[in-house]
Amino acid sequence: MNAIELETKWGFEVYPKRDITLVRGQGATVWDDNGRAYIDCTAGVGVASVGHANPKVAEAIAKQASTLITCPGIFYNDVRAKLVEKLVDITPSSLTRAFLCNSGTEAMEAAIKFARHGTGRNEFVCAMRGFHGRTMGALSATFKYREAFEPLLPGFEFVPYNKIEKLTDAISDTTAAVIVEPVQGEGGVRLGDREFLKTAQFLCNQHGAMLVMDEIQTGFCRTGAMFACEHHGLEPDILCLAKAIAGGVPMGAVMTSAKIEPGVGVHGTTFGGNPLAAAAALATIEFMQNHDLANESARKGARFVARLSETLPSSVREIRQLGLMIGIELKEKAKPHLLALMDAGILALPAGPTVIRLLPPLVISDEELDQVADELLAALNT
Ligand SMILES: *Cc1c(COP(=O)(O)O)cnc(C)c1O
Repeated sequence: MNAIELETKWGFEVYPKRDITLVRGQGATVWDDNGRAYIDCTAGVGVASVGHANPKVAEAIAKQASTLITCPGIFYNDVRAKLVEKLVDITPSSLTRAFLCNSGTEAMEAAIKFARHGTGRNEFVCAMRGFHGRTMGALSATFKYREAFEPLLPGFEFVPYNKIEKLTDAISDTTAAVIVEPVQGEGGVRLGDREFLKTAQFLCNQHGAMLVMDEIQTGFCRTGAMFACEHHGLEPDILCLAKAIAGGVPMGAVMTSAKIEPGVGVHGTTFGGNPLAAAAALATIEFMQNHDLANESARKGARFVARLSETLPSSVREIRQLGLMIGIELKEKAKPHLLALMDAGILALPAGPTVIRLLPPLVISDEELDQVADELLAALNT
């Protein structure tokens, strides 16, 4: 049996699948098992920001794999030590410590626990269309995918994204935290208004609540800054990170401000902060800094949208973009266009039924992006 048959038979199918088997990647290109090349504007859902098979990351992983792969949190480790210092250095100045875990949803689980522990409160204000992960705590903060799993955690309230009045009404002196994405990813590539995000920060301070920013998708240069918080000068109390952090090796991180005191037994994870992932993360972040990927992402994203906008088909309702986080909202279903793009050698993502989402590796070339724009226009015009 081939990979499609094996996965269909033996895998636990929870994803809407596309009928290709990817076996190799290099930069912004991936290849299927027939040797066909695709420009990858999914990047593992915003993971492969430094490109597939990035030589610096591969080298760091290989070196660390033959040195020390695992080291529990009860011991210190040289590579993990360097990484937590680096993360505090590159994140907003309010953040003074890092807890390392293994995925985005785990980062959100930790954030929920830290916010409850730090405030002694258990009420949360979240955004409609927000996405924070699939485990029971993170799902409690997520707007969709929840009905089949209720009851979830109590105390989660949802307000419309970017509606300042509703947010103001929802926050009180019993609020533990506001949990919000600076740009909603799964929710359709929706940009948070500066006033809304600033107001969230102000109200949290006023009410002794914590501001939890979910930068799992927006972090690490995706939006044209190392973190999207920088666009608005936000200083969150808790910052959740994952996806692009370690070049594709599973890792998450929760950054916390001085308001949150770590304590023995408050949280833990076997794999969190393992030297292999830490080495991959250090190499990834250094690559981003050395290649100025924050500015590259800003430049390439703006250039792409300018090119696309020259001859925009009438089926496009709106383009929403920050750096190389790009959403093209259509007046019709996105799926047929995604399949047409795949036929044309471009892999792209949906973000809801009518939005085409592009999250290419940040190392993608201008020529490759031009090709994506041309094929996208062709797909939308048919
Ligand atoms: C992907 C994502 C998550 C969940 O991360 P996983 O690693 O899939 O658990 C949470 N929040 C946001 C904004 C995401 O994009």
